[in-house]
Amino acid sequence: MVNAAGKFGPYNQPVPARSVPVGGAWDTRVLAGRGPTGAELVKSRIALRVRLRSVAPGDRLPDAGVLAEELGISEITVRRALEAMCQDGLLDRRRGRAGGTFVAADWDAVVAVLHDADEAAALDSFHLLLECGLVAHSTGEVPDGRLDGLRALVEELDLVEDPARLLELETRFHLDLAEALGGAGIREFAADLLGRQCLLGPAPDPAVVRARNRCHADLLDELTRGAMDPAVHAVKAHRRAGLN
Ligand SMILES: [Zn+2]
Repeated sequence: MVNAAGKFGPYNQPVPARSVPVGGAWDTRVLAGRGPTGAELVKSRIALRVRLRSVAPGDRLPDAGVLAEELGISEITVRRALEAMCQDGLLDRRRGRAGGTFVAADWDAVVAVLHDADEAAALDSFHLLLECGLVAHSTGEVPDGRLDGLRALVEELDLVEDPARLLELETRFHLDLAEALGGAGIREFAADLLGRQCLLGPAPDPAVVRARNRCHADLLDELTRGAMDPAVHAVKAHRRAGLN
C-alpha cells in the first residue's frame, strides 16, 4: 500500500537518493498493516491535495480508475469513497458530457462542519510523537545537504503573504521533514496523519504559521549542529506556538 499510495498527490516525486532514511532503513510494513481503510485513504489524500493546492474547490477530480491506480486500491473502493464524500457534501457529482466528480465549491465550509476537536488533538499528539522520534533518532547523523530543501521552504515561508500559500508550505515542510529524516515510507505515514488533520481541525492562522516557522528554522539549525535536546525542544515549541 505504501508504495502505491505514494503515487497520489504533488508531494510524490520519484524517490530521490536523499530520501534514504537517516540512521538506516525503516520497515514501514508494520505501519501499513494498521493504516487507514481504502475509504479513509481516499478522503485524507483528497484533503491533502486541497491543502497542497494541487486541486482547488470547484476542480474536477481524476476518474475513479485513475485514483484507484494511484492509491493502489480497488476502483470499487474508490467509487464508494467518492460517493460517501458526495453525501458529506465534500464533493459534487455532475452528469453529462462535462460531468465527473468535483471538489465542492464550498469545501472549507463543509470541512468546518466535520471538525472533531478530540480526534484532531489525538492526531496532533501522534504527529508530535512521530516528529520527536524522527528528530531524536536522526540528530548527529543527517548527511550534508539533506536539509537544503527544507531551508528553502523556511525562507519562502518568511516571505509569503498569501494565507493559502502559507498553509501549503507549512504542510509541505512537515511532509519533506518526514521524508528527509525517515524516508519515503515515513513520508506516506505523515501524509496520512496530515491529510486527516486537514479535515478534523481548523487550519492555523497566518500569524501562527509565521511563529511556527521560527521553530522550523531553529529545528534545522539544531539538526545541522547535531544537538539533540535543542532539536527536540524546537519540535515541541512548534506545537506550543499553535496553542498560545
Ligand atoms: Zn510547521
